[in-house]
Amino acid sequence: MIDQKVMSSQELMAMEDKYGAHNYHPLEVVLAKGEGVHVWDVEGKKYYDFLSAYSAVNQGHCHPRIINALKEQAEILTLTSRAFYNDSLGIYEKYMSEYFGYDKILPINTGVEAVETAIKLCRKWAYEVKGLDTNQARIIFAKGNFHGRTLGAISASMDPDARKGFGPYVPGYDLIDYNDLDALARALEDPNVAGFMVEPIQGEAGVYVPDDGYLKKAAEMCKARNVLFIADEVQTGIARTGKLICCDHEGFKPDILVLGKALSGGVLPVSAVLARDEIMLTIKPGEHGSTFGGNPLACKVAMAALDVVKDEKLAENAERLGKIFRARMGKLVDNSDLLTLVRGKGLLNAIVINDTPESKTAWNICLSLRDNGLLAKPTHGNIIRFAPPLVMTEEQLNECCEIIEKTIYEFKVD
Ligand code: PLP
Repeated sequence: MIDQKVMSSQELMAMEDKYGAHNYHPLEVVLAKGEGVHVWDVEGKKYYDFLSAYSAVNQGHCHPRIINALKEQAEILTLTSRAFYNDSLGIYEKYMSEYFGYDKILPINTGVEAVETAIKLCRKWAYEVKGLDTNQARIIFAKGNFHGRTLGAISASMDPDARKGFGPYVPGYDLIDYNDLDALARALEDPNVAGFMVEPIQGEAGVYVPDDGYLKKAAEMCKARNVLFIADEVQTGIARTGKLICCDHEGFKPDILVLGKALSGGVLPVSAVLARDEIMLTIKPGEHGSTFGGNPLACKVAMAALDVVKDEKLAENAERLGKIFRARMGKLVDNSDLLTLVRGKGLLNAIVINDTPESKTAWNICLSLRDNGLLAKPTHGNIIRFAPPLVMTEEQLNECCEIIEKTIYEFKVD
């Protein structure tokens, strides 16, 4: 084992560059420790984390209750596979079904696996319940979506970086404009449509928030056509937007709910799909699964992570702090030529930089933010997403706003 203690940030970055695949372009900071809303680099500099691992660390870094659950279960039983029953899974499944209000859960690991699971469930339901002819089922997606990196997910993507060089793609998908109910109505005229998968806020695309009422109306339109409304809440779910799931803002329940990321508080890859029996029971033994899905360690960690969300009222905190944040950033937008707008819900927000998506301005602002002690990253060129852990206090949020304001006022465009 290499002695990490003697290695500098520069050496560690060079090592990643030499030995790791180049499928990411990280901001230059090498993190070594996290606690709550803070992270530290290997040289000991402290930062506010304003990305939260893309909303996986909603409960804050290394939350003691979640880490204790991990430690306790790790010493007892970690993995049995689903070849056998284990004493955690049923308890977790009951907990999850009751927590989110569904008949059943299908436990899996990463966000994109949950997306794939939802697509498969939707197709299976289409053939067995809706009665479509074999291989005819179609699923509608919204343009600008991000559902992950598997072939099933990138086949729905429009992002050339995600798609180029990876074809051929999965057939049976239709793309419509996001936040456009007329486009949805036209797409739903096809009798072979089985589902509509949508992010309640398009996070990766740049935190695009649809009009109030769009999601609920879309769900009603789907219902009228016997089409499943599938909410990909991998990024928006679990208190991030100020409600337990983002669809709660409009008071309806998706037919299929897709969750990931913060389900484990950033401790393990844990994801889930929730649905009613009519949908879930179309998948039979051997038709879908994963060695690690529903392992005892994940079950215990996820229950602790969701207990924290409720006990620490993280949704309420996100709702309250989000309003304060957008009000302050709104003033900054008014006072700075560098910014054009702020948008978001709860603590999932973004500022748009007054420059072209190809420019380096947003990236350079993120470097200055880093130097001033706050970590964020551009998404799609000229947009910077701000998604801090939801355990943040108002005082900490105000300090973060000061860092962002100072950075923007002092920033000089190249
Ligand atoms: N769906 C959405 C909405 C996401 O934001 C992401 C990841 O950012 C995913 C799916 C994929 O999750 P994972 O990276 O865990 O596979």
